[in-house]
This record gives sequence, C-alpha cells and structure tokens, in this order.
Amino acid sequence: MQEATRLIKSWYPDLLVIADTCLCEFTDHGHCGMVHTFERDGHVCGDVLNDQSLELLARTAVSQAKAGADIIAPSNMMDGFVQAIRSGLDEAGFEHVPIMSYSVKYASAFYGPFREAADSAPQFGDRKTYQMDPANVREALREAESDVLEGADMLMVKPAMAYLDVVRLLRDQFDLPIVAYNVSGEYSMIKAAAQQGWINEQAIVLELLTAMKRAGADIIITYFSKDAVRWMSK
Ligand SMILES: [Zn+2]
Repeated sequence: MQEATRLIKSWYPDLLVIADTCLCEFTDHGHCGMVHTFERDGHVCGDVLNDQSLELLARTAVSQAKAGADIIAPSNMMDGFVQAIRSGLDEAGFEHVPIMSYSVKYASAFYGPFREAADSAPQFGDRKTYQMDPANVREALREAESDVLEGADMLMVKPAMAYLDVVRLLRDQFDLPIVAYNVSGEYSMIKAAAQQGWINEQAIVLELLTAMKRAGADIIITYFSKDAVRWMSK
C-alpha cells in the first residue's frame, strides 16, 4: 500500500490519497488486530489483543504518512486507536495529517462481496467484539464522541444505505465532516438489478447518493464515484 501511495503521489501529486490503516490485510487469521489463539474443544479460538495492536497500528500509520498519504483512515476499531495513531503521527512530525476515523462501523452483511473478493473473512470467530450491533444507535454516539475526544478529524458511518439515520444523528451532534461509506454489498445489489434490467442504474445511484447528502454526509466513499462524476458533469 505504501509503495502504491508513493507511485500515485509521484504521478498525480494533486490526487488525494486516503490510507486504510488496519492489520487484517496482513494477518493470516484475518482479524483487525493481533490475536492470542488457543484451542477449546478441538476448535481454534482467539482473543484480540487490543493494546498490543495499537502500537503496530500507530507505526503503520506513520509509514503511510511517510509514503505520502494525505489522510489516515484507521478502520480497525480497537479501543483507543485514534489516540494511539494521533500521538504516533504527531511524534513523527505529521501533525498536519488528519485522521478519518471509521467511528461507527456496524457488523454488517453488506460487506459480503468485498470479503469474498479480498478473501478477508476471519478464519475463526467474527469481528463483532469490535464492530457494532446494527440494532444499536446510542453506541454510535458513544463511539463517535470518544473518537472526537481522541482527536479524530472526520467521522465515518459504514455502511451507508441502511444507516442514514446514524449519518443524520452524527451530523446533528458533531461539528466535524461526516463520511458515509457506501460498501460493496450496496454496490453489488444495484449492479445485479441493473444487469437484470430491473432498475435504471444511473437514476437509482444518483437518488441514493442524494439521500446520503440529505442525511448529512459531507464526504461519500463509493464504488460508483467515477460513474457519478461522469453522470453529474453531463
Ligand atoms: Zn481490519
């Protein structure tokens, strides 16, 4: 990722690079932090080691900033991750690099197509100890508030479509840019229905992106971005 960042910034210095800071791409078990594994009744089990993971995350963020990343976007959801990354960046002289925190990340079935493509489903257990229950909205406020106190510069809600009430809630509560992350399952459903001829893809996508803006998103991360830019500039 760091090598790609260096290349992109050398070819297109004006392009904004946002680096996803997590460990799951680099762990063989697919969890977002270091894990202590043990066997119970013939099954491999594990506990995520929160504090030990924080130091690695901070070092990852610093190396991404060194490579030229304009924004650090920690997606791991360990407790205290924003503060750990903020101090790591500050100590390394990257006080100016903002943190886009995946503050409110629900344990969602909408990540399915990405997990399949990236082969990133955890080998055992799930991410529910560090991702949120879709039924819970007050926890979203608590998570966002603690990220703000720890120094987050932008707050993300992920996924977007089924969580627009959460986007609105954060918009009303916090005076920071709110980011809606339109994930792979949301994208794939629309693509599949469009291929069947059941929906008008362009109209549906623009309506959904408009809904995200209306709910209060200042920034939208979406696989439709290139199409949307083309459609909107016509
Ligand atoms: Zn992860």
